[in-house]
Amino acid sequence: MYGQNNQKRKRFYKKSIWPSIGMFVFFTISCVGLVLTFMVSFQGYLVDSKIADIQEDAVSLGRLMNLHMKNKTIFEAASFVEVYLSDDKDLCITDEHNQVLRHFGQTVPDFEQTEHILVFAPLRVLTPYELMPDLDWKKKHKDSVSKLTFQEILKRSMEALLDSSFEDSKWLETPLYQEYYWVEIPINKQGYHMYYRDALVIAQKNVFYMNIAVFAELILLGVPTVLLFFNVCSSISMQRHMVNLLYQDPVTGGKNWNYFLEQSKKILCQFRNTKYTYAIVNLHMIRYQDYCACNGSREGEALLKKIDGFLQISMDSGETFARFGKADFGLLLRSTSKEQCEKRLKKMLVELTGIKKDKMMSFSAGIYLLHPAANRKGQRRRQINIDQVYHFACAARGTMRGKDGEYLKVFDQQILQEQLWKNKVEETMEAALLNGEFKLYLQPKFDPVTEKIVGAEALVRWISPEDGMIPPNRFIPVFEENGFITKLDDYMILAVAKLQSEWKLKGQKQVPVSVNISRVNFVKEDLAEHICHLVDSYGADHAGIELELTESAVFGNKERLMQILKELKMCGFSISMDDFGAGYSSLNSLKDLPIDVLKLDMDFFRGEDEQQRGEIVVKETIRLAQALHLKIVAEGIEKKEQVEFLAEQGCDMIQGFYFAKPMPVEEFNERIKRDC
Ligand code: C2E
Ligand code: MG
Ligand code: MG
Repeated sequence: MYGQNNQKRKRFYKKSIWPSIGMFVFFTISCVGLVLTFMVSFQGYLVDSKIADIQEDAVSLGRLMNLHMKNKTIFEAASFVEVYLSDDKDLCITDEHNQVLRHFGQTVPDFEQTEHILVFAPLRVLTPYELMPDLDWKKKHKDSVSKLTFQEILKRSMEALLDSSFEDSKWLETPLYQEYYWVEIPINKQGYHMYYRDALVIAQKNVFYMNIAVFAELILLGVPTVLLFFNVCSSISMQRHMVNLLYQDPVTGGKNWNYFLEQSKKILCQFRNTKYTYAIVNLHMIRYQDYCACNGSREGEALLKKIDGFLQISMDSGETFARFGKADFGLLLRSTSKEQCEKRLKKMLVELTGIKKDKMMSFSAGIYLLHPAANRKGQRRRQINIDQVYHFACAARGTMRGKDGEYLKVFDQQILQEQLWKNKVEETMEAALLNGEFKLYLQPKFDPVTEKIVGAEALVRWISPEDGMIPPNRFIPVFEENGFITKLDDYMILAVAKLQSEWKLKGQKQVPVSVNISRVNFVKEDLAEHICHLVDSYGADHAGIELELTESAVFGNKERLMQILKELKMCGFSISMDDFGAGYSSLNSLKDLPIDVLKLDMDFFRGEDEQQRGEIVVKETIRLAQALHLKIVAEGIEKKEQVEFLAEQGCDMIQGFYFAKPMPVEEFNERIKRDC
């Protein structure tokens, strides 16, 4: 879900800059287009107007020639025309073979270089006063002045502008372009021509106004274009920043989980080398919570940053990592084999413990090795659900909980089965509770001397229509992890309360029944009130119910536990400490906690070799409990000698297979009737 939202946000950020980019491109193209169109048309106009000037002179000379040719020879007419020519102009008369018959001035036309000859059209002798047609010849001879591109004009104009001083008014007259052309004028039907040489001059003043107009145009269109450009740039950098934020872990400043999922998928899809495979790793800092409690959360975050930095330098190319949450990191590592991967991780775990010299830290890791076959087909790689696989790695790590000296665990089939079982339990538990699949079983507690039933322990059994009878150790740990245990414990308290009230109604012998209360319940502030409410709903006697809590419950908040236990005692329930002696026993808990019953763990009665030592411990523990006025229950008693020994030591009750296994309520009722 988190990933999907990020994808949407990313798409949104990306989309939001497209209108700006579109506007910018449109404006730039329009601006360049407008300036170019303007310059090209201006150049056309400029050259055309200059050629029109030459044409005008040629028309006048042609008319003059025709006028004089009416009553004079060609040469006489030419000498009249020559009078009107200024010093810098040349004139030449040629016959039909381009032989120069007469010339005036310095030069004659070079008929090899025809591009310098502007030819009039139509090629016919003009009658006096006939107007020269102008359009045709202009079109024809545009090519001859095509060398003069507008870039050239602009370049020369700029050079002239830079060279000239503005105070000198003559700079406007600076010629930017000057080229001489011979203008060909047919003068008779025999193919005689008159050539007239004139200069095509484009001066600075001619382009000065164009430059001003171009400059104004550039300012008018350029400023918004530049502004748009900056807008686009800032939009792109903003968008990048946003996308970076999307991929940034708020605590470490490194990459976040979403990045890991996307990047890992990309790497796995691109990776073609079948020699290597990949491992998805769950790296976990053990007791990070305790570290924060001792050093403060700022120190905790600084440590996570250090871990992130360490991982950054430990990654090879084609590998990635990110923080998953709290002190858990997901790693995608390349490996050649399981052993190589384990070796590398072991080294990393050791190095990690040393990143804060003065602090004691430990790390553990769960590994999921991707099957090498997953490298072969792109299709299969794409199907890998990184998130799920990471949780398999977490599950592998989870199996090491509490096991000393073990820091690495590779996910295998057994863990997969456990995981599948866990999923199944979680999927079916609610329905099972509603369908009454959880059954109350009772295991009697006996007086070791009289061997009569003096109590019972309520133990749950899951009778599943699909899997038959499921023992508590298969589902209680799962319920304790997901919190469902509180519902089950309520269900068992209600069942015991109902049983007690039924016994009362039937006038049957009533014995106290103990109910296991998981430590998860002790987070409830109003636990005592809640249990009272459950028991009272069947009107059962509080004294008939004993609440068993395991020693591990004492590891939580001791003050709160004390408070709740006191309240429960005030309500009339007796409190029993289950499995005393298992794990890390604390004699302090005997001193501080307001308990009534001590249940000796069954491990006291296991192990042949050290029987004598075990007996001494049991003997002394019973003496201690007696001194503290606590009742003693011995659990897991399977042998006659054990019963005799416990009876001798003054143990109050015995619970074990020697006398009876846990049984359904009906069977227990029968047994208690026989007992009486
Ligand atoms: P526990 O509370 O210590 O219960 C005693 C366990 O020892 C029971 O196992 C019982 O069948 C077994 N036991 C009794 N005598 C002998 C014996 O002579 N030999 C052997 N080998 N075993 C004996 P069970 O019923 O499998 O329950 C296991 C654990 O599951 C319980 O340990 C308790 O911690 C938990 N549990 C059972 N029912 C409930 C429940 O309703 N709520 C909670 N929170 N936990 C429960
Ligand atoms: Mg118990
Ligand atoms: Mg026990």
